[in-house]
Amino acid sequence: MEYIKSKIRDIADFPQKGVIFKDLTTVFKDPRALHIIGWDLSQLYRDKGVTKVVGIESRGFIGGAILAFELGAGFVPVRKPGKLPADTVSATYDKEYGKDTIEIHRDAITEDDIVVIHDDVLATGGTMAAAYNLVKSMNPKKIYVNFIIELGALGGRGNLPAEADVTSLITY
Ligand code: AMP
Repeated sequence: MEYIKSKIRDIADFPQKGVIFKDLTTVFKDPRALHIIGWDLSQLYRDKGVTKVVGIESRGFIGGAILAFELGAGFVPVRKPGKLPADTVSATYDKEYGKDTIEIHRDAITEDDIVVIHDDVLATGGTMAAAYNLVKSMNPKKIYVNFIIELGALGGRGNLPAEADVTSLITY
């Protein structure tokens, strides 16, 4: 884990003043760090019977796809509006400035699925709470929530549904 931490790059004032952005591209481009991420993420869910990993656009696609591959599960994208070609369900949520919407294909998850929803970073939790509600509306057997990095000071965990089973590889 110390090796992964050493590869995370902090960018001050991106995308706006006051934000310290946790840049994971420096983790993903490093073969050893990428391998460790895949292994460590998959160890969390190895014995859970996971059938689908849902990745949130766009940084959640990278770890999410690796996790799905490692677990022998399928991968499902949650995307910004208008990107998915077939019938979708959508959720709109409040951001610091204005609102945002995310979508998932209506036939992406079934009642037989055991799902991990993955994103790279938990900040305020708004995006994940919306994704959780989307997946929940499809009534799968179980939903796990996963992040590579959790920014604890922002209290995002408190904005996720109380029943959510949340695990982060690294907490700051
Ligand atoms: P949230 O505030 O939890 O809804 O975060 C929204 C999205 O922005 C998440 O998908 C994160 O990937 C990203 N994000 C928010 N804050 C940061 C940060 N400080 N560093 C890196 N990514 C961030």
